[in-house]
Amino acid sequence: MKAAQVIRPKKPLEVRTVKTPVPKERQVLVEIESAGVCHSDIHVWEGGYEGSKGEIMKVEERGVKFPLTLGHEIAGTVESMGGGVKNIKKGERVIVYPWIGDGVCPACRVGDEHICDNPRSLGIFRNGGYAEMVLVPDEKYLVKIHDLDANVVSSLACSGLTAYTAVKNANPSPKQNMIIIGAGGLGLMAIQLARALFNPNITVIDIEDQRIRQAKKLGADHGINSISVDAVKQIKDLTNNLGADCILDFVNSPKTVEPALNMLRKRGKLVLVGLFGGSVDLNLPLLPLRSQTIIGSYTGRLADLPDLVDLVKRKAINPVISKTFKLSQAHDALVQLKAGKIIGRAIINPKKK
Ligand SMILES: [Zn+2]
Ligand SMILES: [Zn+2]
Repeated sequence: MKAAQVIRPKKPLEVRTVKTPVPKERQVLVEIESAGVCHSDIHVWEGGYEGSKGEIMKVEERGVKFPLTLGHEIAGTVESMGGGVKNIKKGERVIVYPWIGDGVCPACRVGDEHICDNPRSLGIFRNGGYAEMVLVPDEKYLVKIHDLDANVVSSLACSGLTAYTAVKNANPSPKQNMIIIGAGGLGLMAIQLARALFNPNITVIDIEDQRIRQAKKLGADHGINSISVDAVKQIKDLTNNLGADCILDFVNSPKTVEPALNMLRKRGKLVLVGLFGGSVDLNLPLLPLRSQTIIGSYTGRLADLPDLVDLVKRKAINPVISKTFKLSQAHDALVQLKAGKIIGRAIINPKKK
């Protein structure tokens, strides 16, 4: 089968012919219809994340091995399976839960495999979806999608789960002021989920008018372009000088977190989701005086994926696809995403010739 692989960090992805895996026991081989291209793929391809002092936290030191097939947002059709598989048949259409853990650590034991102490996530620690086929280690990681569009659902496995978990962590009451920083794929999904689940008053902050317009179409009440206006002042004006009840930061850089801390009201929650990198100075006495909470939020639980598929089925959320690519264009897709040219989601269709 063909796979678009990172051979060495920062080098162009290569489409290679690799051995098609043969599933054993509870493993399932899925023929890929759709693989989402995610910002975190860029970090793996570049070989690391920027740490607090500008140093690079290398992914290879966290157990990533090259060559690697990227891609953790996978939807497709069951091709074959091991003898121990009971509940899924050849030809069934599925989305793959990629945040696979070791099954034995304290997080895994309470169903939080996505924050496992020994992660085995597809497309990061194991070969993923920029390929014709993917080997899934257990049938339990598959959620049936029936006749839903694979391009629409594939991003639920990452941006969908990430946005869902972040919104649930923020847990706003109806009409509370929620700020969403960054109207990319994640932010746009979070707006729809927040609207469907909690109905807060949503203000989106971004640096591009086009994205802000899109965010408003999907349910944001207000939009602020933080390049052209003082976002902190605007939020104070919108909230009677109190600040927002919760902020979801899908960028998470000094440029977003510093103002976010000044936009947050007493008892407010700042949920950090993005992986942009960098560090900030915290004014320590202000945290107890304002009784604020800062939490990190990463992807989401296997148990939540069927809920998300159901929300799409009921048309409560509509993941935005912006552009599709062939497998041979995988590198181009990454480059365009990195350059900020993709609104919503870029998708690779390995079957497209
Ligand atoms: Zn992702
Ligand atoms: Zn674990």
